[in-house]
Amino acid sequence: MIKVTDRSKCSGCTACFAVCPHKAISMKPDRLGFRYPEVDMDICTDCGLCEKVCDFVRTSSLPSVFPEEVRVTAVRNRDAGVLAASQSGGVFSALAKVVINEGGVVYGAAFDPDFTVSHKRADSIAGCEAFHGSKYVQSEMGDVFIRVRKDLETGRKVLFSGTPCQVAGLVSYIPERLREGLVTVDFICHGVPSPNVWKDYLAYMSRKGRISSVCFRDKSAGGWKEHKESFFFEDGRKVFRETYKVLFYKNVMLRHSCAACPYDLGRRKGDVLIADFWGVEEILPGFDGDQGTSMVITMSDNGRRLLEAASFDLDIEPAAVSSDFISRRNPNLMRPARIYHERQMFEEVYPEKGFVYAARRWGDIGWRYKAWQIKVFIRKITGRK
Ligand SMILES: Cc1cc2nc3c(=O)[nH]c(=O)nc-3n(C[C@H](O)[C@H](O)[C@H](O)COP(=O)(O)OP(=O)(O)OC[C@H]3O[C@@H](n4cnc5c(N)ncnc54)[C@H](O)[C@@H]3O)c2cc1C
Ligand code: SF4
Ligand code: SF4
Ligand code: SF4
Repeated sequence: MIKVTDRSKCSGCTACFAVCPHKAISMKPDRLGFRYPEVDMDICTDCGLCEKVCDFVRTSSLPSVFPEEVRVTAVRNRDAGVLAASQSGGVFSALAKVVINEGGVVYGAAFDPDFTVSHKRADSIAGCEAFHGSKYVQSEMGDVFIRVRKDLETGRKVLFSGTPCQVAGLVSYIPERLREGLVTVDFICHGVPSPNVWKDYLAYMSRKGRISSVCFRDKSAGGWKEHKESFFFEDGRKVFRETYKVLFYKNVMLRHSCAACPYDLGRRKGDVLIADFWGVEEILPGFDGDQGTSMVITMSDNGRRLLEAASFDLDIEPAAVSSDFISRRNPNLMRPARIYHERQMFEEVYPEKGFVYAARRWGDIGWRYKAWQIKVFIRKITGRK
């Protein structure tokens, strides 16, 4: 049976939890809220299914190969409202619309009423609006894999979107005979931050009033390339912050598996890969706009068919990018994020000292961050590295 002794080897995808015929596995949170499987030895029959279904361990043993050149498509949704609500070029909405119009259902990450994030199911175009926007936190999966399988068994087409590890876990869990009805979308993935830190940040911001909506990366802060989180309060105020963004990009609160992620371009299992097309102005001058451009890579015939069917709603431009371009502009398609050397210390002190301490020590609150900004400024004007 599955036993996670090294947390960098489990993405928390839930495939083992879903496959267990005796419901012997529960997904238990660690100190930062990341979930890991735990087996009830009184129920387990040692059938081995949970070990067999684990794609993360299997894929980690495969070699990584990156091509010299990658064929991509630059995409922008023609609907200005959808584009504004989406994280980059709004391609996901167009893909979801195709599946809904064919009578299918869509699964994606959405906010709960308290602004924590979990995977949900939608069977209408309006229902898919909840999936707009990147939520930079590990989404709670619950029993979603089991519900996807039930939909496929009743003959519904399913579009599932998630991190590459969630998609790989789902594909591994769904039996071959049902896969024809499943189409999957993943993205270039920098990593997923801690659910507990996000929850505590919400509580910290709530001291300013009742929150009515949040956005992890709000385009209204200055366009698609700007990255600021925003909070809307019930009294009509809106504030922009960068505290969570700074913690995210410092790589101090990511899941352990994100340091050893095997899902580079060649080893992922999704049908369509979507991403921010950082550097699009170098490749396709004139295509870019300040509301965002998606980079799309179709990984299978199923994926190619889906993009083709969605093309009526999209401005599309094919292009080729070099491995050097990817390495400069979106390196997480090639290799995992480099984890901050104090990640372990973060995990040890965070549960006791809490969010404000962490934001002062590793985020943008207080003198440390200001001192760092001054250092960067001096280096810039003196030309020192
Ligand atoms: C944690 C995370 C890390 C990312 N890292 C990168 C990166 O390094 N480089 C890059 O180019 N792009 C990255 N992206 C993807 C990027 O931010 C956009 O989501 C992508 O460009 C799609 O844009 P869109 O306009 O089509 O999507 P939108 O319409 O905004 O759709 C977003 C889609 O992402 C899914 N999603 C959102 N949050 C989560 C979540 N927490 N877990 C699982 N699925 C989620 C939704 O279900 C939806 O399908 C990341 C996204 C996330 C959530
Ligand atoms: S990666 Fe997924 S299948 Fe493997 S142990 Fe973790 S939760 Fe289970
Ligand atoms: S070995 Fe079989 S019964 Fe035991 S936890 Fe794994 S899937 Fe369940
Ligand atoms: S970086 Fe890899 S392991 Fe981490 S969430 Fe993304 S796909 Fe999963």
